[in-house]
Amino acid sequence: MLNFHDNNLFIEQVRLLDIVEKYNTSTYVYSQDQIIKNFEKYTRELTEIAGGMICFACKSNSNGTILKLLAQHGAGADTTSGGEIYRCLKAGFNPDKIVYAGVGKTREEIAYAIKSNIFMFNVESEEELYVIDQIANQCQHKVRIAIRINPDVTPDTHSYIVTGSKGTKFGIPYEKAVQIYLNASKKKNLIVSGIHFHIGSQIVDLEPFKLAAQKIKSIIDILNTYNIKVNCINCGGGLGIKYNNTTNVISQHQLMTEMFNIFGKNNKFIFEPGRSIIANAGCMLVKVIYSKISGNKHFIITDAGMNDLIRPTLYGAYHEILPVFQHNNTQNVITDIVGPICETGDFLAKDIMFPIVKQNEVLIVKNTGAYCSSMSSEYNSRPKIAEVLVKNDNFMLIRKRACYDDLLLNEI
Ligand SMILES: *Cc1c(COP(=O)(O)O)cnc(C)c1O
Repeated sequence: MLNFHDNNLFIEQVRLLDIVEKYNTSTYVYSQDQIIKNFEKYTRELTEIAGGMICFACKSNSNGTILKLLAQHGAGADTTSGGEIYRCLKAGFNPDKIVYAGVGKTREEIAYAIKSNIFMFNVESEEELYVIDQIANQCQHKVRIAIRINPDVTPDTHSYIVTGSKGTKFGIPYEKAVQIYLNASKKKNLIVSGIHFHIGSQIVDLEPFKLAAQKIKSIIDILNTYNIKVNCINCGGGLGIKYNNTTNVISQHQLMTEMFNIFGKNNKFIFEPGRSIIANAGCMLVKVIYSKISGNKHFIITDAGMNDLIRPTLYGAYHEILPVFQHNNTQNVITDIVGPICETGDFLAKDIMFPIVKQNEVLIVKNTGAYCSSMSSEYNSRPKIAEVLVKNDNFMLIRKRACYDDLLLNEI
């Protein structure tokens, strides 16, 4: 996706500096081609072997143009709020391909989801189950549900993105699963048809997926003895990407083959990838405002801060950064790349080896497609930044840079 020509970095056939000339910095840039390639890796595996849907986890990136692109290629959507359901419907997703998870669905959100005819609720507590049944009754609707099981496995990832181990707020403990399925099966407005697990994010090994799936399979086997059939198996998302050169990540093929083997191919499978579809299809362009040396360390101050990209400070995440115009034969020095915000935690990278750069040089922050724009805020009264989509040798604005007036929107 990224390549150098005559020292200039290109994304597909577009020179990054041309995007900067037209839309300035800081700007998020995405490759359409890479998004589709990543999505199709999933669909190919799924359609060759089993049936089901790939539901894009739209909290990872909820830009309407990107959602529309995926919807047009046949994706479903994994949503976690009424707002996300709204966005996905606006972007053209078939409601029949929308699933809805989340530990705190409000009555309003549940009613909205039911009226929108979404495919399935992934239920995260017993109380929620009864509220859905009640509202479904009021709407005179029957509602398809899966129960999200917490299988109690702890993948080796940042503790803030572990969701499937005991003591996290997600799902129903697996020891209680059978009883809750039995209760659910007695509710006349609920159609019990699925089982769901999502154990975390940025998982690079097969083992935790496998352990979780085996536990889920044993629940399915017990349910069968009660004549409760769940044949929609939702394996969640969570597959990681290569943020640095040292991590090895299992492939979609390895993950899905293991799931098909454990559960059997005659089920309907749902996968909910977010990061592994969009993260490496996006990057961020930032401009150097100043450099300085303080306490023997070089600092590069950019026009992007933690409000635009919170992952480094929130998760200690690593994002590779490069100048978009290649430096030849320059010496690298230990550098912190920081933003302009009044917080010590406002950094894009810490203690990296980096060339000495000049004012106004443009840098690229790589792999920022997932959980970057969608997690951004206006902290320090910084208007939200622009987003651009690249297709072959073309590029277009898909979110315009906000202005100062936008900061006051809705204030009274
Ligand atoms: C966030 C989330 C996902 C997506 O996770 P990724 O790591 O981005 O693939 C999938 N399912 C649920 C329920 C989620 O909350």
